[in-house]
Amino acid sequence: MGSDKHTHLPGPTYEDDSPKQSTALLSFGAGSAGRDDRSCSCRSARIASKVVFVSLILVTCVAVSVAVAFSFLFFSAASSPGPAPVISIVRNSPLSPVVADAIARPLKKLKKDVVILISSDGFRFGYQFKATLPNIARLIANGTEAELGLIPVFPTLTFPNHYAIVTGLYPAYHGIIDNRFVDPNSGDVFTMASHETKWWLGEPLWETVVNHGLSAATYFWPGSEVRKGSWDCPEKFCRHYNGSVPFEERVDSVLEYFDMDNGEVPVFMTLYFEDPDHQGHQVGPDDPQITEAVIRIDSMIGRLIDGLEKRGVFDDVNIIMVGDHGMVGTCDKKLIFLDDLVDWIEIPASWVQSYSPLLAIRPDSSISPSDVVEKMNEGLSSGKVENGMYLKVYLKEDLPERLHYSASELIPPIVGLVAEGFKVEQKRSRHMECGGSHGYDNAFFSMRTIFVGHGPRFASRRKIPSFENIQIYNIVTSILGIKGAPNNGSSSFPESILLSKP
Ligand SMILES: [Zn+2]
Repeated sequence: MGSDKHTHLPGPTYEDDSPKQSTALLSFGAGSAGRDDRSCSCRSARIASKVVFVSLILVTCVAVSVAVAFSFLFFSAASSPGPAPVISIVRNSPLSPVVADAIARPLKKLKKDVVILISSDGFRFGYQFKATLPNIARLIANGTEAELGLIPVFPTLTFPNHYAIVTGLYPAYHGIIDNRFVDPNSGDVFTMASHETKWWLGEPLWETVVNHGLSAATYFWPGSEVRKGSWDCPEKFCRHYNGSVPFEERVDSVLEYFDMDNGEVPVFMTLYFEDPDHQGHQVGPDDPQITEAVIRIDSMIGRLIDGLEKRGVFDDVNIIMVGDHGMVGTCDKKLIFLDDLVDWIEIPASWVQSYSPLLAIRPDSSISPSDVVEKMNEGLSSGKVENGMYLKVYLKEDLPERLHYSASELIPPIVGLVAEGFKVEQKRSRHMECGGSHGYDNAFFSMRTIFVGHGPRFASRRKIPSFENIQIYNIVTSILGIKGAPNNGSSSFPESILLSKP
């Protein structure tokens, strides 16, 4: 388990652990903007007296156009498995021509559009290939999938990401900047059991839905028990987190919502599973236990599908299956100890808000954060600190902008980025472990998770480029036909991946 895990209930808990990292790097190159070259210079051709000559020119133009069109299609297709697609690419390359004209399938039984948002915690992108997963495969085959995975926000931890998914905001703006942190003004401590409204900024989807006079039902989701605005976590529709509730019971409870009078079925539901994150922390991402956990999640998806089919609503429901982050293997040889920096600067444990993979440091107010950063980096790059080259420390305002991790006073002034799979600890100990972790730079492919959309608003057999999970808020409000709150997602994103309403 991750060292900074905070258990507040028996049994499985909301999963997390935090990391960081230094190297990064998604390619931010623009998408292959295929050039439309249909305007060949035929027009300038003088009217020749010989019809044959003109015909030859026309034939040549057509041939060139066809060649250009084919190469555009070829390079568009070939670009998907290449460098990690980034949001800018997604925003600029919305629809394939086939989908652009496709219309959402009309509802057969339900009176309103419904979204079930499912999270499988720590479902690293690629887990779907670990075994035969007939149910997830069915959603993928008949739905829309982020072909190279969903990109989490930084830090790639459970609470910051789950709340980003339902608010469309980066953690600096939604307030949950870590799984555990201290408010520097009040001294109050946020933990994964904190339900006080003051911590949870933004407008989560359940609140947006209720604001529009519709019903939402949450079967666990970080933040769902917080009373905010018109959302008062009603007993009927808001489950209080209890990790010991069997997955089957969660699925069955969601299915029961569809037994209500048709007009009363909540239009937005969440469903949360702690696995395979739970196992991932213990054994790392490549272990038979992960395969077993993933198979179990698949069977829960199957249970959900079966129940929806029995009620005749499977084709009417929009299912969005995501994870919150990925997972990477960690081991005791990949450690960096803050005490090893003592020849440059002493970092007392009291300054450290979280170690790993998110290293967050708030020095005493009498100490200059800039000096701390300078001395730490001097030591780390000296070649004299074990694994020092795998940690780089920043003033938060100097972090790469793509991390969006500075615009909150809750974020400590010093943040370290840890290389993939490395961890930071205060001092050497006999404690040795190998396992898994997450929380690192969201540019790491290992931190990606899955996105699958299935239902009347999602095209079948469609692959889309990777995108950040802050886009999901707008996807859901768009499906439900309601106006969302301002957020960090792109307002035009949903139309690039959803089928339009009939
Ligand atoms: Zn998680």
